[in-house]
Amino acid sequence: MAYTIAREPAASKKPKPPQQELGFGTHFTDHMFMMDYDAGIGWHDPRIVPYQPLVMDPAAKVFHYGQTVFEGMKAFRAKDGRIRLFRPDAHLSRMNRSNVRLSVPLLDEELVLEALRQLILADRDWVPGTEGTSLYIRPFIIATEPLLGVAPSRQYRLIVILSPVGAYYAEGIRPVRIHVEPDYVRAVAGGVGAAKTSGNYAAGLKAQEEASKLGYAQVMWLDGVHRKYIEEVGSMNVFFRLGETVVTPALSGSILAGVTRDSVIRLLRHWGIAVEERSLSIDELVEAHRAGTLLEAFGTGTAAVVSPIGELQWQGEPQVIGGGVTGALAKRLYDAVTGIQRGSESDPFGWMVD
Ligand code: PMP
Repeated sequence: MAYTIAREPAASKKPKPPQQELGFGTHFTDHMFMMDYDAGIGWHDPRIVPYQPLVMDPAAKVFHYGQTVFEGMKAFRAKDGRIRLFRPDAHLSRMNRSNVRLSVPLLDEELVLEALRQLILADRDWVPGTEGTSLYIRPFIIATEPLLGVAPSRQYRLIVILSPVGAYYAEGIRPVRIHVEPDYVRAVAGGVGAAKTSGNYAAGLKAQEEASKLGYAQVMWLDGVHRKYIEEVGSMNVFFRLGETVVTPALSGSILAGVTRDSVIRLLRHWGIAVEERSLSIDELVEAHRAGTLLEAFGTGTAAVVSPIGELQWQGEPQVIGGGVTGALAKRLYDAVTGIQRGSESDPFGWMVD
């Protein structure tokens, strides 16, 4: 199906930052995509416009009740110059699952994919190409109806902004120290933890801030009911190598279904490594550590791909994992996923989209 996306090119182009100074989410490209929704009309006016501030009514529902969803995915420049997205279909279908949970109207995923293509083409000079860099894509929907009644908005705006981002591991993949959070919880089953919505991130800031003061990179979240079962680490999914088996928490309703999580599970199974998606308690983990069977732990997410965990701090006791160095499996997964993304490895699952 052919979609018509209006275009208003930027009158002038911004200077581009040097590729070694990109950081994460600090620079934005020359254009953005927008599309509006009105009850009775549906989504309309898809357009690519110059990157610019928004003018919004202060009564817009998003400011008061947080009716909003977002996504985070990446495009990569291959050695031959081609620009390719990593699993955009998986990200867009997750966005629609978030929309269902937040009572936001569904998107036409094909239209949004076409919009991403055209937007990235308009800003293709911004896609960095040096090792570890990428173009981070941030689609988000906000409830724009100016009305303070608590009910789903009758108006929305979808916006997509692009940010060239630097290498996550400037000094090579490196393990981090993690604080197992005993008090605060991120989400509970039945709530919105499985949706990518801003409230989950606001809910996590306090614990993250306190862990950071204690010298930890992130927190590991336990479930909100028993305060016992492992859920996620920071804003990543989490995996443990217990002997010859890899275990990751099952998607229990309070965990975000990471696209990297799914990619890692598929790669492991493709390699013939057993993966269990099940509930895993902190007690079981401490016991495995004591018995010497906890060989590796790592987080997975779009930003870092794989982030090895060198130490877990639980009830005042540091549990050093795998000697505090990056495990072989974490490294193998990191190399495999980034190799597929860069185009230096074959893509057995057809994840990359031109
Ligand atoms: N959990 C949370 C809470 C996240 O925000 C993210 C990042 N999107 C992830 C897990 C990892 O998801 P993905 O692999 O799709 O980036």
